[in-house]
Amino acid sequence: MHQDQHPWIDPGDPAQHATTLAAEFTRVYGREPAGVWFAPGRANLNGEHIDFHGGRCLPTALAHGTYVAAAPRDDAVLRLRTLDEQLDDGVAVVPSPLSGADADHPRLAQDAPAWTRYVSGVLWALDQLAPEHPEFEVDAGYGADLLISSTLPIGGGLSSSAALECAAVLAFIATGTPFGAEHPEHRLTGALDDCRRALLAAACMRAEVEVVGAGTGGLDQTVSLRGSRDHLLSLDCRDFTVRALNIAPLLRDHVLLAVDTGQAHWLGDGQFGDRRADAEAAAALLTAQPLRTLLPADPTADDVDAVLTAFDQQLKADAAGSELVRSRGVAACRRRLRHAMTEMLRSEQLLAALERLPADPIEAASSIGEILTQGHLSMREDAEVSFDEADDVVDVALQGDALGARLIGGGFGGSVLALLRAGDVDDITAALLRKQPKLRFVNVVPSEPARAL
Ligand code: ADP
Ligand code: MG
Repeated sequence: MHQDQHPWIDPGDPAQHATTLAAEFTRVYGREPAGVWFAPGRANLNGEHIDFHGGRCLPTALAHGTYVAAAPRDDAVLRLRTLDEQLDDGVAVVPSPLSGADADHPRLAQDAPAWTRYVSGVLWALDQLAPEHPEFEVDAGYGADLLISSTLPIGGGLSSSAALECAAVLAFIATGTPFGAEHPEHRLTGALDDCRRALLAAACMRAEVEVVGAGTGGLDQTVSLRGSRDHLLSLDCRDFTVRALNIAPLLRDHVLLAVDTGQAHWLGDGQFGDRRADAEAAAALLTAQPLRTLLPADPTADDVDAVLTAFDQQLKADAAGSELVRSRGVAACRRRLRHAMTEMLRSEQLLAALERLPADPIEAASSIGEILTQGHLSMREDAEVSFDEADDVVDVALQGDALGARLIGGGFGGSVLALLRAGDVDDITAALLRKQPKLRFVNVVPSEPARAL
């Protein structure tokens, strides 16, 4: 109902998007695409900045995502174009990352637009799987034409980067690997079992970390490739095992609203990496590999306090070991540690609330809301990744009687996720727009993972 009205971002009909994109591909490249592939963005109810510390994340795949139309080439060239208005600068021609002399490092065009690295990085990371998974081997001469279009805000904290990577990886598999040849068209979707999807999520994460240089921890890629309709994933980032939790009972009477603040972030530019480095310095002082090992399976607030006390004691006891923490700033490292620990605690509390959903949806919804709001305080005060527009959205939503609201994604821009009673949606969105007319809304509808269209 809401999606039809501006400023709701309409995810549209995937089949319709695919048809339109294929026609546009033919116009741009003068030939037909071999297919169109889609991967969703995500909303994470809890677990920001802890995937790389082995924490638990609770994300869901969105109906909104990124479409890639593609056709293979045999000249080791990638021709790439995005239809995103801000980024579209015509067709970028870049060498295949596989065509360089050094197989361990991708060959990258220095002058190509930054966004093309997400795509060429994925092709490189896919081919890196080949020694153990020959079904994913890509010919050195492989190239492709790609046309990209997205229904996600770009840099909006709903993971357009992972959606691009995951849609691109399917396009490359389909058009450039033995696995794609063996499972053509729609058959690819089912042939990619959860095990293979986990492998591809790791490859896409590798592309973003090693080629783009963003400090992502695998949450986004995992849910884009392994999410499921009506479900949240409980994702244990120690081993990337997932459990799907049905949240249909929550969404019968409530709406999960993602509010894009319009403040785009860019995670490659170091701030996100700084926050991560602070937490890693604290982890090194506590010899915790990863940080999640500092808490028991069912942590309490006392366990979190004990970790912070251990940090304070270790700081006094280990002059040499604390040098890194001191150089980064003791107070900052302690706050990052506290964010990581409380966020891990909140994930376990949220998981417990989700498990109570079928029996008592009203009570569970109110607990989930409280956990969201506590998560925002932690993002603001301890992770220090929030910003005025996001704080304002949280305040207005809570004043309008939202059950809870928090900043999601890496921060420094991006989106707020709010849990609303269905009957309050119109009033709260109207109040939000009065304060910030440029806000855009995404109805979070737990949806299918990456697939061929
Ligand atoms: P988020 O993943 O939260 O949207 P990121 O900063 O991680 O934000 O990723 C945004 C970046 O990903 C963009 O700056 C761009 O480089 C790339 N990107 C994402 N979607 C697209 C797209 N449709 N076309 C081109 N580049 C894209
Ligand atoms: Mg991203």
